[in-house]
Amino acid sequence: MNERLAVGDANGADVEDAFRWAKGQDDLGEPLINNKSVRSSIADWYCEATGLKNTKLRTMSALSKGETPGPEASITKIVSANKLQDIGNFGMDSLDMAGMLKTDDPEIQSFQNAWLGAPGLRIAGGTDEILKNIIAERVLGLPQDARADKGMPYKDIPSGKV
Ligand SMILES: Cc1cc2nc3c(=O)[nH]c(=O)nc-3n(C[C@H](O)[C@H](O)[C@H](O)COP(=O)(O)OP(=O)(O)OC[C@H]3O[C@@H](n4cnc5c(N)ncnc54)[C@H](O)[C@@H]3O)c2cc1C
Repeated sequence: MNERLAVGDANGADVEDAFRWAKGQDDLGEPLINNKSVRSSIADWYCEATGLKNTKLRTMSALSKGETPGPEASITKIVSANKLQDIGNFGMDSLDMAGMLKTDDPEIQSFQNAWLGAPGLRIAGGTDEILKNIIAERVLGLPQDARADKGMPYKDIPSGKV
């Protein structure tokens, strides 16, 4: 849970970067920000970024009272990693093939880094699927996945070896 808390605070291209980028890019003679699908994505990322900020503040309050990070840190990790990947994809898509080129432009680099790094972030510290299980079971209190080895000591789990 400590690792997820740290990963969930990962730096990278965020909604402000996507917004600034969309305002400065041309989309067939129109500013990219006028594209409805781009506007819709930026609105989604804004909601996610605001939710993340407030969830992190809640976690900081808990930590300041001596509590340990709870399973809600899984929410921060899964939302931030997926948002980073979406924003990286958006930046790279808008650059078309030029997105593949090495550049010194820090704005483009931030999209390239997100595009290359976010898929790994969705695995490291617990994959999306594992985090969804944690959120379902420990945050929402939904029934657990069926597990034949539940409550069984590791040495007794059938391995297939004779
Ligand atoms: C960039 C990066 C950095 C890393 N850094 C470190 C590090 O510093 N230290 C370290 O120890 N490890 C590190 N790792 C390893 C990382 O912790 C593991 O890769 C991760 O926990 C997933 O485990 P796994 O690779 O064994 O996948 P598996 O557990 O084999 O999962 C394979 C697939 O099956 C799915 N799956 C597995 N179990 C379930 C289930 N119960 N329900 C639904 N789906 C399931 C997974 O979601 C995944 O899609 C890093 C990984 C990456 C990508």
